[in-house]
Amino acid sequence: MVDPTSEHVEDVSEEDAPVCSTCGDAIINESTHRVVTWVQDSTAETRHFCDDVCHEDWGGRP
Ligand SMILES: [Zn+2]
Repeated sequence: MVDPTSEHVEDVSEEDAPVCSTCGDAIINESTHRVVTWVQDSTAETRHFCDDVCHEDWGGRP
């Protein structure tokens, strides 16, 4: 489904949306969306956050 009012080019439905690692909210076309990726034990790890506040709350936790 395409939302003609959306400025976001990605077609992300609520089911496919990433979930904030801090508060658990689905992140759908959030302009404040933060993504952190790193490699641990040869595996790419990814965390999504709905904004900087959740990112900072997550802090240095693994
Ligand atoms: Zn959040």
